Amino acid sequence: PKNANGNYEVTLIPGDGIGPEISESVQQIFEAAKVPIEWESVNVTPILRNGRTTIPDDALHSVQKNTIALKGPLATPIGKGHVSMNLTLRRTFNLYANVRPCKSIVGYKTPYENVNTVLIRENTEGEYSGIEHEVVSGVVQSIKLITKKASERCARFAFDYAQKSGRNHVTAVHKANIMKLSDGLFLSACQEVAKEYPNVQFDDILLDRACLQITQDPVNFNHTVMVMPNLYGDILSDMCAGLIGGLGLTPSGNIGRDASIFESVHGTAPDIAGQDKANPTALLLSSVMMLRHMRLNNYADTIEGAALKTIASGKDLTGDLGGNGTCSAFTKQIIRNL
Ligand code: ATP
Ligand code: MG
Repeated sequence: PKNANGNYEVTLIPGDGIGPEISESVQQIFEAAKVPIEWESVNVTPILRNGRTTIPDDALHSVQKNTIALKGPLATPIGKGHVSMNLTLRRTFNLYANVRPCKSIVGYKTPYENVNTVLIRENTEGEYSGIEHEVVSGVVQSIKLITKKASERCARFAFDYAQKSGRNHVTAVHKANIMKLSDGLFLSACQEVAKEYPNVQFDDILLDRACLQITQDPVNFNHTVMVMPNLYGDILSDMCAGLIGGLGLTPSGNIGRDASIFESVHGTAPDIAGQDKANPTALLLSSVMMLRHMRLNNYADTIEGAALKTIASGKDLTGDLGGNGTCSAFTKQIIRNL
């Protein structure tokens, strides 16, 4: 909902390391593009409560109220009792699907051209359930938990996404030939949901086969939305990111029941933090995904266009893209190209 000023309120989690610099860049670009958004900036440095890692209350309430957030990278706290902040956010807000598009950027050369993949990762269970025990010394067991409920929820999101994006095709990626019960359940959930979407085509592929085919010619996956259990999605999405030039460029969205949080895939880049060297593109493209999620497509198109034009122009590119521009100079170029 819009506030009294006619703007949408969105939570901003600037994050650690290069987070504040790239968040500042996004804010400047949004202001220049006159996006009707007011940022509510919050700090999510974790606190320990009853021995559990939690998010500070004002951050929690902000995301709960706004239901949309843009998030910079967070440092993983080291020490007992602290679990990853990303995992905490995922659990707190029921962020059940992670969307990772990978699209080649014209003008930025990589060994692959015209890549345009979309991958949806189940975000709450599977191999990341965190249920591990030592049975006897030297023997451990790690439980991969798959439920019909979470699989269907993720599958339904994938089919919705396929419909909205006009791809109209979903491909389930799995190993149901080996993990007959667990991946079998994920696959059958996808098949069931497929019946609700007669206009969306459905097929499935084994994970190993998918890796082979994507690296041979990723363009063969440009027509579909891939959906898969947690671990496969983690690995395959990084592989797809590698095809288009890596960390500085890849956005993602965590779609949830109680909120949706958009974030760059890369980490805090401590080696270049505070030096005005970071590439803001990944966070900016995450914010573009966020705008599309909010149905502010015109603003999304304008900002995305300006970012891509800037990269193609080669002017003031940051170090990771082979240039020697600064984050702030690159940001100014994008604003000029709006
Ligand atoms: P973390 O522990 O937070 O993941 P990290 O040390 O693993 O931090 P990453 O952020 O994952 O670092 O980055 C790996 C490398 O890629 C670093 O050398 C970093 O400088 C570079 N890098 C990552 N993101 C960007 C960016 N947005 N712009 C420029 N370089 C980046
Ligand atoms: Mg890292």
